[in-house]
Amino acid sequence: MIVYDKEYDVIVVGGGHAGCEAALAAARMGCETLLLTINLDAIALMSCNPAIGGLAKGHLVKEIDALGGEMAKNIDATGIQFRILNTKKGPAVRASRAQADKQQYRLRMKRVLEEQENLHLKQAEVTALVMDGETVVGVDTKAGVRHMAKTVILTTGTFMRGLIHIGLVHYSGGRAGDLPSVGLSDNLRELGFDVGRLKTGTPARLDSRTIDFGRLEAQYGDDQPIPFSFSTERILNKQVPCHIAYTNERSHDIIRSGLDRSPLYSGIIEGVGPRYCPSIEDKVVRFPEKDRHQTFIEPEGLDTVEVYPSGLSTSLPIDVQWKFYRSIAGLERVEIMRPAYAIEYDYVDPIQLHASLETKPARNLYHAGQINGTSGYEEAAAQGLLAGINAALRVQGREPLILGRNDAYIGVMIDDLVTMGSKEPYRMFTSRAEYRLLLREDNADLRLRERGYEIGLVRDEEYGIFLRKKEMIKEELQRLRQEKLIPSQVDDDFLEDFDLKGMQNALTYEQLLRRPDVTSSDLSRIDEKIMETPADVREQVEIQIKYQGYIDRQLEQVGRAKKLEHTKIPQDMQYMGLSGLSAEVQEKLHKFKPDTLGQASRIPGVTPAAITILSIALKSRC
Ligand code: FAD
Repeated sequence: MIVYDKEYDVIVVGGGHAGCEAALAAARMGCETLLLTINLDAIALMSCNPAIGGLAKGHLVKEIDALGGEMAKNIDATGIQFRILNTKKGPAVRASRAQADKQQYRLRMKRVLEEQENLHLKQAEVTALVMDGETVVGVDTKAGVRHMAKTVILTTGTFMRGLIHIGLVHYSGGRAGDLPSVGLSDNLRELGFDVGRLKTGTPARLDSRTIDFGRLEAQYGDDQPIPFSFSTERILNKQVPCHIAYTNERSHDIIRSGLDRSPLYSGIIEGVGPRYCPSIEDKVVRFPEKDRHQTFIEPEGLDTVEVYPSGLSTSLPIDVQWKFYRSIAGLERVEIMRPAYAIEYDYVDPIQLHASLETKPARNLYHAGQINGTSGYEEAAAQGLLAGINAALRVQGREPLILGRNDAYIGVMIDDLVTMGSKEPYRMFTSRAEYRLLLREDNADLRLRERGYEIGLVRDEEYGIFLRKKEMIKEELQRLRQEKLIPSQVDDDFLEDFDLKGMQNALTYEQLLRRPDVTSSDLSRIDEKIMETPADVREQVEIQIKYQGYIDRQLEQVGRAKKLEHTKIPQDMQYMGLSGLSAEVQEKLHKFKPDTLGQASRIPGVTPAAITILSIALKSRC
C-alpha cells in the first residue's frame, strides 16, 4: 500500500445522499475532510424516484435544513414540481414533496461539494479499514492507496456486494450502470460486525415520446411552490406536471404469467425487501382483489425524455416488462429506456451503533445511510448529517450531538435503529413518532436552528433571520392575547358567521383563534394587523394557539420520560446473571448494550419491571 502523505480529520466513504451531508457537515465545521467515492460523476445521484420529501420524509428534510444541511437547498434549486401534501389534515402530518430534475440535482450538489472549503474529493473504492486495535485510523483503496484519518464514516448505500436481478439474469453492480463495492463488507464481518442482506427495487425508465399523455390525467404542483429550506426565498425553476395512469386486469395477468421467472418468487433473492415499497408483482400477489394499481408518471428532468413510473418497480424478466408496461392505457407503444430491476446488497445491523452513529465494535468509525438498513434519500441524508457532525465533534474533543425522540424525526429514526436494529429496510413514517404534534415541518427551525448554530453549521445571516422570526412570533402571540373583539364594535355579519351574536363579554383574539372554525384569514376581517405579519409567522402563531392544549399534554409526557433518557448506563455494565432479570432480557441487554435507560426501555421485550431492576442496579453501582 502507498500511504498518502496527509492525515485527514474525517474520511467519508461514499458520495450518495448520506455521504454528501456527512462530508459537508464535517468540512463546514472546520475539519479537513476527504470524500472517497467509486464514481465522482454519480455524486448525489438519485438511484430510484426523482423526488424529495413526502410524508415524514419532508419532515426530515426540513430538520436537515434547520441544522444547516444541504438537501433542502439542493431540491429548492433543482425541483420541477412542488406540492404540500395533506393540507386539509392537521399540521403534524402536513408534508412537502418535490419532483427533482435528477441531473440538475446531482450536478448542483457536486458543485457545492467542490466549492466547500476543507473538503477534498477523490474517486476511489475503499476495500478495507485500517485499524489500530479497536480504533479506526484510515482506509485502504482498491488502487493500492492508504489514506489515514482520525475518524471514518461509511455511507456505502446499496453498493456492498450489490447483485442486480432482472428475471433470472443477475450480475454484480452497485446500482444499474455502477460498479459494486467488493471486499469492504467481508472486512467489516472480520472486524466483528453483524453483516446482513437486504433488497430493494426500481421501475423501468420510459421514453416519454412513446406515451400518449392525452389519455392520462395530468397532476400539477401547487400554484405557489413553497420551498423546503428556511433560507430559500422562492423557487425559480420551471414547473411541470406528472401524469396518472393505472394498471388493469390484463397487466396483472401478464405479471402472474411471469412469476415462475421472478427472482423474488423463485427463491433466488435472499435479501428482505421494503415492506412499504412493494414491487408490482408483490402487490398483484398480495392484493388479488384489486383490479388496478395507480402510477404517477414522473418526469426525470427538464432536459430529458426519460420518465419514471412510480410504484411499478419489478424484477420480472425483460420480456414480461415489455408486455406489462404496454398493457397500461396510454402506454401501448411505450419504449423502455432502462429496465426495472431489483438489487440485493450487504448492510450492517445498526444495533451495533451508539446514538451518535459511532459503531460499538470500532471506535471513531461511523455508519450512515442505507448501510444501516434504511431506505430513502432523506433517511440517508439525515443520518449522514448527524454522522458528519459527530465525527467532527469527536475530532474537536466535544460531546456528540444526540437528538431525542422529542427533538426531531431524526432522533426518532436513529433511536429506532440503534435500539431495535433493522431486519428489513426502514423508512420514516409520522406514526413512528410518539410526539408527532411537537415534531412538525413548520417548526423544524424552532426546534433545531439553535443547535445548528451552536455546532457551527448555521451561518450568522441565517441565524439572524431565525431570531427575528422567533421574536415576531412572540410579539404576535402577545398582541393576540391582549387585543379583544368587542361585540358592539364588530360587523353583524362577522358575529353571525361565527355564531357570536348575543355574546356579552369581549373575547381576546387568541380565544377567537383557538376556535376550530376560525382561521387567521377569518380573523383578518376584524384585525387588519394580522395580515401584516409574514406568512410563516402567522402560520406558527395560529398552530401554537389552536393546538396549545395538545402540545402542552405532549410536553408533559416528554417531561416524564426525560429521567429515563438522561440516566446513562456504562458500557461495561454486566447484565448476565443480574438478579431479577429473566435470561431473555439479560441476553437482549447484553447484545444491545444500551447507552441510557430510555434506550433500554425501548428494546423489544424489555419490560417496565426490568427497567426498575436495572435502575436499582445502576444506583447500587454508584
Ligand atoms: P447511495 O445513494 O446508494 O450512495 C452510496 C455511495 O457510496 C455511492 O456513491 C457509491 O459509489 C459509494 N460507495 C459505495 N461503496 C463504496 C466504497 N467501498 N468505496 C467508495 N465509495 C463507495 N429508496 C426509497 O426510499 N424508495 C425506493 O423505492 C427505493 N428504491 C431503490 C431501488 C434501487 C434499485 C436502488 C439502488 C435504491 C433504491 N432506494 C429507494 C434507495 C435510495 O436510493 C437510497 O436509500 C439512498 O440513495 C441511500 O443513500 P446512501 O447515501 O446511503 O447511498
